[in-house]
Amino acid sequence: MAQRNFWGWGLEAAAFSDQQLEELRALFAMRFGDALAARAISPPRLQDLALPASRLQPPASLEGLLSRTPYERAAHTYGKAFRDIVRGLQGDFSVAPDWVAYPESEYDLVALMDWAAGAGAAVIPYGGGTTVTGGIEPRFEGGWKAAISVDMSRFNRVLEVDPISRAAHVQAGVYGPALEEALKPHGYSLRHYPQSFEFSTLGGWIATRSGGHFATRYTHIDDFVESLQLLTPQGKIETRRLPGSGAGPSPDKLFIGSEGILGFITSAWMRLQDRPQFRASATVRFTDFLAAAEAARLLAQSGLYPSNCRVIDAQEALNNGIGDGRSNLLLLGFESADHELDAWMRRALEICRECGGQVAEGSGKTVRTLQGERKGAAGTWRDTFLRAPYLRDALTRLGMVVETFETAITWERFPSFHDAVVRAVQKAAAEVCGGCLLTCRFTHVYPDGPAPYYTVIAPGQPGSQISQWDEIKAAASEALITHGGTITHHHSVGRDHRPWYDRQRPDLYAESLRAVKTTLDPAGMLNPGVLLPEQ
Ligand SMILES: Cc1cc2nc3c(=O)[nH]c(=O)nc-3n(C[C@H](O)[C@H](O)[C@H](O)COP(=O)(O)OP(=O)(O)OC[C@H]3O[C@@H](n4cnc5c(N)ncnc54)[C@H](O)[C@@H]3O)c2cc1C
Repeated sequence: MAQRNFWGWGLEAAAFSDQQLEELRALFAMRFGDALAARAISPPRLQDLALPASRLQPPASLEGLLSRTPYERAAHTYGKAFRDIVRGLQGDFSVAPDWVAYPESEYDLVALMDWAAGAGAAVIPYGGGTTVTGGIEPRFEGGWKAAISVDMSRFNRVLEVDPISRAAHVQAGVYGPALEEALKPHGYSLRHYPQSFEFSTLGGWIATRSGGHFATRYTHIDDFVESLQLLTPQGKIETRRLPGSGAGPSPDKLFIGSEGILGFITSAWMRLQDRPQFRASATVRFTDFLAAAEAARLLAQSGLYPSNCRVIDAQEALNNGIGDGRSNLLLLGFESADHELDAWMRRALEICRECGGQVAEGSGKTVRTLQGERKGAAGTWRDTFLRAPYLRDALTRLGMVVETFETAITWERFPSFHDAVVRAVQKAAAEVCGGCLLTCRFTHVYPDGPAPYYTVIAPGQPGSQISQWDEIKAAASEALITHGGTITHHHSVGRDHRPWYDRQRPDLYAESLRAVKTTLDPAGMLNPGVLLPEQ
């Protein structure tokens, strides 16, 4: 089986080759000149890693579930944010978990939690490890005697498909591709495609409230959860399968987004959708970014619900090979399992034209489509989108600072908010890196506002990349919070966003969440430091 990269994204075999790195260097040298590092950073070799000694001896009854090979420990140390990749490249795995556990049943999970509680160890629920906010990293303030990373990948079955109510009961450790493969023979799809789809799990999506690829309506994991099962140190909670319920505050909503601090999500009943049969897409060009944003607003409020409504600024379009660097793009798409889409697309393009958009020739027609088939700018965009995390690793090896951050804001504040964020980031990047490429796109649009997603690419200094990024990120986060946005729209809070999340959420709400945590996890051993300060 292809091995996952222990220091970076995806599969080892899919990483950029040395020759591709040099081609990249030449490309970016045109923009950043001598500021690029002279030599690419070489990835560490597993046999050279100096991992801290594992501090805990398990009882014989659990040995079969546990591993502490250097590969397993290293691969479970960090998520996949830029700062994780840099530390991985430096061979710094100083906070590696003492053990990695692979439970197969709830019985195993109970035994693991009992052992950890007795030993004073912290327990970290681990899905696919693609967190970008330090969500699975054994980084604690408290005096935990050890850390056990509990990998849910053996909870990997689709247990039942209900074709009448169009839902499936799925175990939490199923990865995106395996889930879609299992649903395909039934003609269904979860239709939830985060960029990290290939390497992330259902449990991780639910625990982080992940956002899918589609721009409007049913795209967030929140929308698809019909009920779920959570195993806590105090026992099991199983919510009722219902299409809707007005019976008090929703227990599902309490656990969706709980980021592993309240219990293990072991399975969930998920709402499904028919696989699309019709697809229509169009590319619209705008000379003005804010005009494109205005078109996206009107589309989001039109009731047309495009599956794709992605505003991409001119620089980002250029970076992705779908623009000339002058035009801002709006990629528009509709999908349906049931009907032709020409009428929807016609009206959507009218809206775009009214806002000054120029529709690319030949686009906008409904095609009967095979699953996965996409052409034109949307197809190119999708391919680049999936390759982007490998590119980020390669740029990191070239000593660059390359990372994203995201948020959401209401429409009436967007122009001034965007302006303030761009200024703050450019100022910080100029101070610590001498400048940067800063791009913006909308990942999601709602009737009341967009979710802007920013990418920063800057020449860094090998050895200082993390501190350089930390300064830029702090400036960005400060601007997001000060100007009324959220610290995260879909990347979750984890450990890294906590300082700003602590300011964003009401204090009395934090106390309520703390009370729930204390009830379900009295020892506070589940993912300490995530969402709430450690006690
Ligand atoms: C290149 C890249 C692209 C990304 N694209 C997107 C995107 O498009 N949309 C998006 O929303 N996010 C995206 N992310 C962020 C990340 O993929 C999501 O947060 C994802 O939902 C994490 O899933 P995972 O299975 O990898 O979980 P992990 O990273 O393993 O865990 C994330 C958090 O969930 C908890 N957790 C995991 N499984 C369970 C469980 N069974 N029970 C309880 N808690 C659990 C962990 O303790 C941790 O706090 C991206 C990340 C990268 C690196």
